[in-house]
Amino acid sequence: MNANPVASASVCGRVMLVGAGPGDPELLTLKAVRAIRRATVLLVDDLVGEGVLHYARRSTRIVHVGKRGGCQSTPQAFIHQLMLREAQSGERVVRLKGGDPLVFGRGGEEAEYLRAHGVEVEVVNGITAGLAAATALQIPLTHREHAHGVILVTGHAKQGGARLHWPTLAAAAAQGLTLVIYMSVTTAAEVQSGLLRTMPASTPVAVVQHASLPQQRHAIGVLGELVTLIAQHRLGSPAIILIGDVLTGLQQLTATDAQMHAA
Ligand code: SAH
Repeated sequence: MNANPVASASVCGRVMLVGAGPGDPELLTLKAVRAIRRATVLLVDDLVGEGVLHYARRSTRIVHVGKRGGCQSTPQAFIHQLMLREAQSGERVVRLKGGDPLVFGRGGEEAEYLRAHGVEVEVVNGITAGLAAATALQIPLTHREHAHGVILVTGHAKQGGARLHWPTLAAAAAQGLTLVIYMSVTTAAEVQSGLLRTMPASTPVAVVQHASLPQQRHAIGVLGELVTLIAQHRLGSPAIILIGDVLTGLQQLTATDAQMHAA
């Protein structure tokens, strides 16, 4: 006997979970463009760039189901039910999510819910914001001399969920890993003080807002001044904080630049 009667139901309907990338429509994959063009219903997150939607047909129903931290947002349960209803009624449903659908976007939960209700799910990758942020600064996230790997981490834990232990993470990063922190501008004080318990204050950091979009902005500095850096440059969400030695060259360039302007 099957323990999960829902999972054993025959497959009915199909949803594509598609990564819209960091915002620049030119960073969409060909698969994503094809899916958007074929969709009859597009369920769109609020971090999806407007330009991406130009690929949709005029007849496509576009539903914005944003879930921005701290703002009025569509409850996740509602999004689940909407996807299910549209898929079951035979629509070609594309769930368009910022970046990659399976990196911090609750795409995993959405896929699980749909599959448990007998809906077929296909995932199409997108370029995740952390990668786009590094490219915005033209720096590598790994480097044979500075970084053997990358940690993608969220600065915004689920309410009531287990909190990250930043000093432990800092110790791992000190082994030669670059930290790429999502959803962290509002929790930067906690990130800074937690990491400083293990990492030197002089560790290079960068904050990139709106990576890949025309309004992209960034600031470069050191961990000991992360919060000040964000405030001084008036950076806000959506942004990525990058931390690690891969930023050293960039930091030196910025310092030289500042000296040249002061001279
Ligand atoms: N699935 C997405 C992440 C969703 S979580 C991805 O793979 O990129 C939302 C967080 O992503 C934001 O709080 C911010 O930290 C980051 N983000 C998304 N788009 C961004 C952009 N264009 N520039 C900088 N950060 C971005």
